[in-house]
Amino acid sequence: MTRAPDLLVFSDLDGTLLDHHDYSWAAAKPGLQRLSDLKAGLVLASSKTAAEILPLQQKLGLFGMPAIVENGSGVLWPDQPDSGKTCYAKLRAILAELPKGFKGFGDMSDSEIANLTDLDPQQASLARQRRFSEPGLWTGSNSGLEAFLAAAQEHRLHARQGGRFLTLSFGTTKADAMRDVISHFTPRLTIALGDAPNDREMLELADHGVVVHNPHSAGISQFPSDTEARILRTKQAGPQGWSDAILALTRDL
Ligand SMILES: [Mg+2]
Repeated sequence: MTRAPDLLVFSDLDGTLLDHHDYSWAAAKPGLQRLSDLKAGLVLASSKTAAEILPLQQKLGLFGMPAIVENGSGVLWPDQPDSGKTCYAKLRAILAELPKGFKGFGDMSDSEIANLTDLDPQQASLARQRRFSEPGLWTGSNSGLEAFLAAAQEHRLHARQGGRFLTLSFGTTKADAMRDVISHFTPRLTIALGDAPNDREMLELADHGVVVHNPHSAGISQFPSDTEARILRTKQAGPQGWSDAILALTRDL
């Protein structure tokens, strides 16, 4: 990217730019071409790690763009290939001081992670290369968990229980990371696209938020009416809906 783009687009991956089943973005190609013609910037924003998202950025031709990784726990800046490595070291050092019972990805092998997820060992190896957050399992008692969470909070760690894993981080969201990227590029217009509740704040923050239809999840509930007026809800799911929304929102640019 030689100059700051006028239009900056923030996009979730799974169920949004990537198909829920086969992770293909083929159906998004018309929208991606439109962004390329407009010299718009596309910032991927996902729960994926840097190691997972970098190959995707390359395949999508997104050179010189930052990416929001690990659910907004950090931003991967293109001119800082080691972004977040000291952050993860700090997080692991704090975890080592807390009451025992939390087993993080850093304590597991690739095959252990593969067994706990639907990833193959090679994918698990990429998911294990953390920069900003540590997912894991609680292996102790319920009362031990309470003590662990209280101690984590004292160290300003944020704990989030997802479907499978308890994730520790320094607490920033996709929207916080989006704010950092916006203040770097100062675009004239922003669009954000997502399909799940963890994309909600990102959609609220953008000039245009797009809820990409996902028939496999509960989706994103209605926003307050003044925000909902800036929200486009796609009829089609995944990359097809993504493309339709980009073409509609950029028609007059
Ligand atoms: Mg998603």
